Amino acid sequence: MKHYIKELENLGLIIAVTAAIDIAIGAFPYFITGGLLVFALIQQKHTANFKKWAIRPNKTPNLSNKSWQLISENILKSINKSKMANTPFKTELLILQDVSDSLPDAHIVIDNTGNITGYNRAATSMLGIDKSNLGGSLAALVEQSNFVSLTRGEIPDNITEFPSPLDEKLRLEARYTVLDETRAVVLVRNVTQLNRLLSMRQDFIANVSHELRTPLTVIVGYLETLLSEELDLKTTKEVLQKLESPSNRMQALVDDLLLLTRLEAAPQPSVDELVPIDMARLIEQIISDGQAMSREKHTISPLIETKKVVLGVETEMHSACSNLVQNAIRYSPEGGAITIAWQPIRNGGARFSVTDEGIGIPQEHLTRITERFYRIDFDKARIRGGTGLGLAIVKHVLVRHSTNLSVSSELGQGSSFFFDFRKEQLAPESIEDKFVDK
Ligand code: ADP
Repeated sequence: MKHYIKELENLGLIIAVTAAIDIAIGAFPYFITGGLLVFALIQQKHTANFKKWAIRPNKTPNLSNKSWQLISENILKSINKSKMANTPFKTELLILQDVSDSLPDAHIVIDNTGNITGYNRAATSMLGIDKSNLGGSLAALVEQSNFVSLTRGEIPDNITEFPSPLDEKLRLEARYTVLDETRAVVLVRNVTQLNRLLSMRQDFIANVSHELRTPLTVIVGYLETLLSEELDLKTTKEVLQKLESPSNRMQALVDDLLLLTRLEAAPQPSVDELVPIDMARLIEQIISDGQAMSREKHTISPLIETKKVVLGVETEMHSACSNLVQNAIRYSPEGGAITIAWQPIRNGGARFSVTDEGIGIPQEHLTRITERFYRIDFDKARIRGGTGLGLAIVKHVLVRHSTNLSVSSELGQGSSFFFDFRKEQLAPESIEDKFVDK
């Protein structure tokens, strides 16, 4: 305030002095007019300096006029104050942007003409949207007709599926939501995996139904014969015997399905569940079961070259190993030789393998044979008595034992299925000795 008073005092002094000079020398109003002109010019200069500072008011001004200096300092103070007040707001906005960029789903904000006004990082990876597309049409970027209709709000339920414009194999699902009269948001998520799972589930149900229906049809056929015809005891017995095979088939399928479901749902076995498994004894057991299955028509021999003991879940390991032996029998001609080996490998590990001289597997099928119900020759495999789940069970057991199934095969020559255990997965030598002494 005092600077303004001082300013007024200066003006008063100029008027008083110049008026006094004018009166003294009789030159009124020349001096007073000149004085006021000089005062006005000086004020003009101060205003210009202030204006210059005001263009970029980011540091303390250095103005010769005290009043302007004070005004400028006050302006600067309030600018800084409002900057401080905006900082948390800006930080919140940046956090929101980071959050939206970290989301796996894409979102694109469009105005009421369908032009892009904002997007997150996932929109770049899924649809290829970048800065250059801001202000441009979203529909022009994704030229799928259903997507275009969606961005115009013309799809019932406001949801549609379409292939990614960047990669046709990616299936995307877009959802349209109106934000207000001027804006809408399009949310996009990748549903490729979900679709795959759904179609796997459908295939699985179809396969199970098919597998069960075939033996069931046979059983129903024989039952109808039994019920509709007067049969003597001998014929009745013969018909009843025919029911045994399809019933066993259904039983095997249900058993395998239950085992597979249990293996898939169970968590990785804990250290307490792992017991030492004497592989030599396990091989002995499965050879005897195998010989019963083959009715002694194959030569099944053990090849035990190590006394290493596996730490595992015995029932599961038995199931995996015997499935491989059953397959070797199933897919080998009569008289074929099958070798079940337990051998040392490098770094103190050990390998279990089943090698046959059977029909072999074409290379292109090798990566798929562990899929549920995957068969190379569907009809032949079923005639041979498999459920189509054997190798899927083996795969799951091995995953639960931190190892995996390998196959080498030559068409018409035979196959070898094997899996390895690292030294850490085997029992210490002290335990090995106990088993060997038994
Ligand atoms: P399946 O019950 O049909 O044998 P698996 O899951 O055990 O089902 O095996 C899947 C497919 O892999 C079989 O249908 C068969 O075509 C092939 N396969 C498995 N083991 C052998 C083998 N030792 N020799 C030749 N083909 C085999």
